[in-house]
Amino acid sequence: MSSADFKELGLSEPLLKALKDMGFEHPTEVQIRAIPHVLNGNDVIVKSKTGTGKTAVFGISLLQLTDPKEAGPQCLILEPTRELAVQVDKDLKQMARYVEHTSTAVYGQHNMDTEIRALENNITIVIGTPGRIYDHIQQDTLKTGNIRYLVLDEVDRMMDMGFIDQVRRIIRTLPVPEDRITLLFSATIPEEIAGLCRQYMKDPVSVDIESDTLTVDSIEQIYYRVEPDEKRTQLNRILLMERPKNCLIFANTKRAVNQIQNFFTRKGYASLALHGDIPQNRRLKNIEQFKKGECNILVATDVAARGIHVDDLALVINYDVPLDHDSYIHRVGRTGRAGNDGRAITLVTGEDIMTLYAIEEHVGRLIPEAELPADEELEEIRAEADAWIKANSIKIQPPKNKKTSGSRVSSNKKKTYSKPVQARKEAAQIPDKAAPAAQSAWKTAERQDADDNEIPVYSAEDILKANGLSKKPSLFTRIFGKFVKKIE
Ligand code: ADP
Repeated sequence: MSSADFKELGLSEPLLKALKDMGFEHPTEVQIRAIPHVLNGNDVIVKSKTGTGKTAVFGISLLQLTDPKEAGPQCLILEPTRELAVQVDKDLKQMARYVEHTSTAVYGQHNMDTEIRALENNITIVIGTPGRIYDHIQQDTLKTGNIRYLVLDEVDRMMDMGFIDQVRRIIRTLPVPEDRITLLFSATIPEEIAGLCRQYMKDPVSVDIESDTLTVDSIEQIYYRVEPDEKRTQLNRILLMERPKNCLIFANTKRAVNQIQNFFTRKGYASLALHGDIPQNRRLKNIEQFKKGECNILVATDVAARGIHVDDLALVINYDVPLDHDSYIHRVGRTGRAGNDGRAITLVTGEDIMTLYAIEEHVGRLIPEAELPADEELEEIRAEADAWIKANSIKIQPPKNKKTSGSRVSSNKKKTYSKPVQARKEAAQIPDKAAPAAQSAWKTAERQDADDNEIPVYSAEDILKANGLSKKPSLFTRIFGKFVKKIE
């Protein structure tokens, strides 16, 4: 669309003016595609994720289609949460700035008398949560006889929250589908919602906004509650349970990215890092290596990982809960792409829980909590975990142009890099030649921060032992052990 955009949708001048005040210069994709159908008087099913601009799709359309002088309420909007009800009411009031339409929100824990007084005025649009709306209908404080427009917003969320029966009860009190327009918005349309559409909508038009950031259908999202001082230990245990083909781990800071990578190095896992302090060409190389599967663990900050597209990424882990809600969408949207299934795991400390709730609100779905893996569960999958560790362990390359004999580090002897050497290594993203955990990968109580500034050097034998792969020197150790050398 051209810059005339909203005008081309056929909206009235006062509405265009209000949109301009709101800073809406061009319609979003969902607005371009859905508003004409709504204005045309169709029932519409809009499949689109949260944050795409759905509120204006129904808000602007309802304001254009209704006459505030007629008896109300003429429009009923159902929202899954009180916050959304309040937000939508606020948005509608802004859109209605230059017209006479009125709106009010009703929701649980709000003063019932205040709501009743508001409803006594000839309100055009009522927004509310299903429970409270139904209370008002039962008490006859909300009359449904004039409702010609019904909006069911965030229906998948309402279903997750167990509101669907209430929604059905409300719909049964409204004029029949032939006498009303029903608009349904949902990020996903599972069978139960499709059934609702068949039952309560008439010849609906479907508008499906493909999202390249959050394909909620195909991404399984869970979170684990963790203690702040055991995040890395739990990260390791989760990785061993998941054993992903490849995995992108997000942290909120460069420091955290470095710490995680150091931790992996100590465990003997090969990993790559991406953050703003890593030179651009090295970052590009790391992305390429990750994409090619040369290294299957990538630890990154949001900014550095922006725009990475790996078509078959199996797992995203939010080591830190993102502070910006959209980052959550961008992060988890790295997986489950191109029709593949994906998983997204978030580690949540007590301090983060409210942020997670806000993210749930933002993405429009509940993220279920999962139980951290127990020792017995890890013991059960030990053989598979060992195989995964082996597949992802640091590959030891023979050093070029250097004598290798006699350079092997004895199995229990650790050496710490000097700080400048370590800094150079981190900047260049050179993985340690060898590294390990002192005990088996899942039984170690990790000292998390104390040793972040040390990268000990271990032999290949150490790596295998530490991960429980070999009790005595194996062929692998015999062949490659001699290549492990001290780093000056
Ligand atoms: P949804 O209902 O899909 O969750 P919203 O309607 O709340 O999304 O819109 C998300 C954000 O985008 C809001 O902050 C809203 O003000 C803004 N927005 C919506 N449409 C436009 C537009 N055409 N131009 C600029 N900003 C917009």
